[in-house]
Amino acid sequence: MVLRLKENKMLIKIQSETPKFACSACGTCCSHIHGIVPKEDKEFLKQHVFGEMPVVQLVPVEQMTFPLWDWEAKRFMEWQNEVNVDARIKPLRAILDLNSNKAIILTYFMDGETDACPFLKNSKCSIYHTKRAYVCRLFPFNRGPFLNQMEITSKEGLFGACGAMEHILPQVPNDFNKMIKFLNEAFPDGSFLNAVQNDIIIEWANKTIVDLMKKKIIKPARNYPYNFLLRRIKNAEKIDFTDFLAEINYFTEREKQDLIKRFDDNIDAKEKIGQCLN
Ligand code: SF4
Ligand code: SF4
Repeated sequence: MVLRLKENKMLIKIQSETPKFACSACGTCCSHIHGIVPKEDKEFLKQHVFGEMPVVQLVPVEQMTFPLWDWEAKRFMEWQNEVNVDARIKPLRAILDLNSNKAIILTYFMDGETDACPFLKNSKCSIYHTKRAYVCRLFPFNRGPFLNQMEITSKEGLFGACGAMEHILPQVPNDFNKMIKFLNEAFPDGSFLNAVQNDIIIEWANKTIVDLMKKKIIKPARNYPYNFLLRRIKNAEKIDFTDFLAEINYFTEREKQDLIKRFDDNIDAKEKIGQCLN
C-alpha cells in the first residue's frame, strides 16, 4: 500500500504483511481429546457410521479420540514403547467384508484413561520429535478448505479452539483463492499443508472403498443391527486397510510404502495448493 502525504509529497510504503500463526505450546489441543469432534461432523457420524455405511464406527462418538490412519497407529504402537506410554490404541472404524470375512481396520484411536492424550507428559508431547500423526500436525485446523465431504458453513468451521488463532481468524479472507493464499502464508508451521493432505487422504480412502465395492472385491456388511455388526467385527480376523490392499494386490508392498511416503511428504497438498496459487 502506498500513502501520499499532501504536505511534503513524501511517499511512504506500508507492507501489508500476512499475520503468522505461532503455536504457544499451551497443550490445550492435546489435553482434551475425548469426543472432540466438530458439531456438524458429530451429527454426520451419529447418523451414518453406526451400521448404515460400509465403514462402521466401533465406539460411541463421546468415547472416540483423534483418528489415526492405520500406518500412523503402527508407528504410535512402536513409539509408545520407546517413551514408556500405554496409549491404549484400539480400532476406531472398520469394514466388515462379507467376501473375505475379515474386519478391515481403517482407523484407530487412543482410548486413554484420562481426557488428555496419553503421550502428553508435563504439558509436553513426548513424541514431538517424531512425524506424529496428521491430527497432531494439522491443528489449529479441523480440516482444510477443499474437501466437500461435509459443507463448510463458515471459515470458523475450518479451525478448532486455539488461543493463538485470535488475531488471525478475523483476517482470513472470504474469497476462496485469497483465502488459500492467506492460509498458505499464515501457517509456516505446516498445519495448513497437513490439513489439506489429511483431507486428500480421506478422499483417497473413500474413493478406494467405492472402487473395491464396484469391482466386487469387497462386500461390506451394512444395514445390520449395530450390535450384531459389532459382535461380528469383534470376532472376525482383523487386517489394516493398507495391508489388505497389498494382500489383495490392489497395489504392491513397494507401492504401498511409496504412497505412505507421498502422504507423509504432503505432496498432493502442495500440488493442490500450488494449482490455486498459479
Ligand atoms: S495449536 Fe493452539 S491449542 Fe494447540 S498447543 Fe498450540 S496454541 Fe495451544
Ligand atoms: S501425540 Fe503429541 S501432539 Fe499428538 S495429540 Fe498426543 S500429545 Fe498432542
